[in-house]
Amino acid sequence: MKKGRLFILSGPSGVGKGTLRHVLFKRVPGLSYSISCTTRKPREGEIDGVQYRFLDEREFEYYVSAGKFLEWARVHDHLYGTLRSDVETELEKGRHVVLEIDVQGALQVKEKFPDSIMVFVVPPDLEELEKRLSGRGTEKSETLKTRLLNAKEEITFSRSYDYVVVNDKIERAASELTEIFKSEIRKSERSKDHDLL
Ligand code: 5GP
Repeated sequence: MKKGRLFILSGPSGVGKGTLRHVLFKRVPGLSYSISCTTRKPREGEIDGVQYRFLDEREFEYYVSAGKFLEWARVHDHLYGTLRSDVETELEKGRHVVLEIDVQGALQVKEKFPDSIMVFVVPPDLEELEKRLSGRGTEKSETLKTRLLNAKEEITFSRSYDYVVVNDKIERAASELTEIFKSEIRKSERSKDHDLL
């Protein structure tokens, strides 16, 4: 069985990663989304085990000390982490795993899986990001400020990524992202075939 590829999708809060991911999953077969753990409280409509696994701080700390996370980080005052076992099982099954994580987590994963493909999604400009974040209506003005500050800092890390996609228009950005995924999957399949010769 061929192993799958590991993709990391990052970008500031409100940039539209979630929407792009949904389009991507319809267009690229064989993808598997890794559901992260977080200590953040569920937003309205979020269900435990669907968007996230919602843990309290003690449970999260236990997972950290038990070495269950492939990576974890504190983002906007909450803890977020990716379960190692989920990712490894899916890759073994030959599925291509998509992690939607922040830059701190992405750098940890890249160290453990140097072959992973890192994609950073940026807004066309910061005013557009502010508009999208406040339009989403999920954040209080304090957290909105934190998220905008973090966005500026995060964007400086986009240099460490393999690809940077500007989310100016959903359809255009989704097509670009789809092409990146398809071409990286084709590349790895070609190199595996080559290994078999
Ligand atoms: P939100 O609270 O808006 O769902 O997510 C906030 C940020 O946390 C996003 O930038 C998202 O990429 C990041 N994030 C979500 N899950 C994980 C994770 O498992 N690990 C890390 N390091 N960051 C995550």
